[in-house]
Amino acid sequence: MTIRVGVVGAAGRMGAEVCRAVAAADDLELVAAVDPHHAGVAVREATGVDTDLTLAGDLDALVDAGAEVVVEFTGPSAVGANLRWLLEHDLHAVVGATGIDEADLTVARELAEARPANALIAPNFAIGAVLLMQFAAEAARYLPHVEIIELHHDRKVDAPSGTALRTAELIADARAEIPDAPLGDDRHPGARGAAHADVRVHSVRLPGLVAHEEVIFGGTGQTLTLRHDSIDRTSFMPGVLLGCRKVASLDGLVVGLEHVL
Ligand code: NAP
Repeated sequence: MTIRVGVVGAAGRMGAEVCRAVAAADDLELVAAVDPHHAGVAVREATGVDTDLTLAGDLDALVDAGAEVVVEFTGPSAVGANLRWLLEHDLHAVVGATGIDEADLTVARELAEARPANALIAPNFAIGAVLLMQFAAEAARYLPHVEIIELHHDRKVDAPSGTALRTAELIADARAEIPDAPLGDDRHPGARGAAHADVRVHSVRLPGLVAHEEVIFGGTGQTLTLRHDSIDRTSFMPGVLLGCRKVASLDGLVVGLEHVL
C-alpha cells in the first residue's frame, strides 16, 4: 500500500528535494505540492519530478488530493500556522522547517493529543546529526564545559539553527553542573555567541556551506570535538522518508528523529 504524501514549501531547496525523494520511493506517492508564491508553476519545472502536478497556492489542495501525510519545509514565519492547519484537518505532519515557537508548539501538541493526526518534528533529519546530538549528551555528563558552533549557507533565515538549539537543550538536560564561562568584552557584544539553555552557541553563515555543527568540550588538559557535516541536502531524505512511513503510528506530537529510528 502506498502512502499519499503532500509537500508544503515544495518549491524551496528542501521542499523540492523532498518531492524528488518521495516520487522516487516505491511505497510513497507525491499527490500534492503547495508553495503560495509559486502557485501555478508546474511541479516538474520546480523540482524536476516527472509529474503533471501543479504547485498549489493554499493548503486545501492537500485535502482535495487525499494526502495522508504532509511534509512541511517552509520556514519560521509559516510553519506554526501550517502545522496547526494540518492537525486541524487530520493530516499527519512531518515537520522539517525550523524556528517554530513555544506557543505554536504547545497548540500543536494539544491538537495532536485531541485529534487523530500525529506530528513528527525533527530539527535535523540527517542520521549523523541525530547521532552527534546523542554523543554530545553523553559527553556532557563527563565534560560540562562545552560550546556549539553551527555553520549554514547564507540563505538560512533563522539563527541559531534548530539543531544547535536542540543540541544545547540535550546537553543542559545531561550535564550535572553549569560551569562559569567568561562573557567577554562589552565593546563587542555577541563575540561570545548566544546562550541557549546556558550553552554558548555561535552561528556562522556563508555561501558554500550546507549544514554543519561542531560541539567542542573542554576538560583538564584536553578537548573533545564532535562534528557533523551535511554536504548535500540528500543527507536529510532517508530521515524524511522514514518519518513519512512512521508518523501515523506515533502517539500525538513527537520531537526528534531518534524516536522513529
Ligand atoms: P527555502 O529554500 O527558502 O524554502 C522554503 C519554501 O517555502 C520557499 O519556496 C518559500 O517560498 C515557501 N513558503 C514560504 N511560506 C510558505 C507558506 N506559508 N506555505 C507554503 N510555502 C511557503 O528554505 P530551505 O532551505 O528549503 O529550508 C526550509 C526550512 O527547512 C528552514 O526552516 C530550514 O531551517 C529547514 N531545514 C531543516 C532541515 C531538517 O533536517 N529538519 C534541514 C535543512 C533545512 P518563498 O521563497 O517564495 O517565500
